[in-house]
Amino acid sequence: MTRQAYRYALDLNDHQRGLLASHAGAARYAWNWGLRLIVDAIAAHRAGDSSTPIPSARSLHRAWNVWKKGDDGIAWWSEVSKCAPQEAFRDLEIGLRAFWESRAGRRPGPRVRFPRFKKKGRARDRFRLTGAIHVEARHVRLPRLGRLRLCEEATPLLERIQAGAVHISAATVSREAERWYVSFAVEVERAQPASNGHSDTVGVDLGVLALATLSTGEVVLGPRALRSGLRKLCRLSRHHSRCQRGSANRRKASRRLARHHARVAALRRDHLHKLTTMLAKSHGRIVIEDLNVRGMLGNRRLARALSDTGFGELRRLLEYKCRWYGAELVVASRWYPSSKTCSQCGAIRAELSLGERTFRCPDCGLELGRDLNAAINLAGWAHPVVAGSAPETENACPSGGQTAPGAAHHVEAGTEQQRASGSEPTGTTGGRWSRSLICP
Ligand SMILES: [Zn+2]
Repeated sequence: MTRQAYRYALDLNDHQRGLLASHAGAARYAWNWGLRLIVDAIAAHRAGDSSTPIPSARSLHRAWNVWKKGDDGIAWWSEVSKCAPQEAFRDLEIGLRAFWESRAGRRPGPRVRFPRFKKKGRARDRFRLTGAIHVEARHVRLPRLGRLRLCEEATPLLERIQAGAVHISAATVSREAERWYVSFAVEVERAQPASNGHSDTVGVDLGVLALATLSTGEVVLGPRALRSGLRKLCRLSRHHSRCQRGSANRRKASRRLARHHARVAALRRDHLHKLTTMLAKSHGRIVIEDLNVRGMLGNRRLARALSDTGFGELRRLLEYKCRWYGAELVVASRWYPSSKTCSQCGAIRAELSLGERTFRCPDCGLELGRDLNAAINLAGWAHPVVAGSAPETENACPSGGQTAPGAAHHVEAGTEQQRASGSEPTGTTGGRWSRSLICP
């Protein structure tokens, strides 16, 4: 069983928009309500009073049910599906557990922060529903919300449902700018082919000027959407910041800004999906570089161009699509000098500035585009010559390979440590840039 999501834009009337907004409000309210109890319980523990346990999602829900009907409870609870607060408590528990695991060092990846209170207008409007969820050709029926129209036909999902191949476990409704989306979390019985019928190896160099350069010589240009839309973005955000706080004009300006951000994000998502599907379907083995995305985003000048192309997202998509279609994804070590190595004779140049777009080899005289040279080197990385420099195999492919599974795992564990120790962002300003551009 694989977990997968199907996401559709919703076509709503004003009444339905109001209904969705109040569900999102209820989820936010319940989150803050539960977080307050948790914070108080932790404070009591610190003060030496351990009589009240830290509440779990289940106990929060029980306390909520008593409280909402009580004297200082809330009047609107009967208008909102009980799932919205219940699922918010579950998220809270998951978030809290992630924080503790991360603090204890049992969780890989970046440090997880303690759950924060959600402020209306700042936190994203979203809520999750479980229970009776029905998908029709052009509609979805959700508990309490009734029948909502989709912007497009849900044919692929519907076919899978009718074939009995999927089970919908939950529906998440969220808002981006002024548009609402529903995302179905499904468990799919998905055949994971051992091979996609291709046996070639392709090296993919991810870059700033071109999103991807393949060792075959193909060049995939990055989504220029953000860059071309950047002037408009600047204009909109300048206008926004000049409007009087709290004024109607400022509200209008911020809606326009949010809409533009959402449009750019959608274009980027679409582009990355197309590129990664093409790669996973048409090549047997794909070698990419292990880019330290967070570290690179510390560099302010590169940050905008990098987050524009969405490297981290690209790798995430490639990882699961390679599993789906039967390609093998290999991530070359971060320390492999793919740009500085000559792809013809193997000589390594000591220095290569970012501005040099052509690789010139002093030993054999090779002249090649910088990105293409790096891509060819990455393709060669799949067959390492040097002992002990086995590539990090991202997904175990049964028919796959030349590296023993044991060796790959060993290397993987090593890189995990490198990731934990060496991937702190270097600059705070860079971080700010990247956040605002990655999550518009
Ligand atoms: Zn050379």
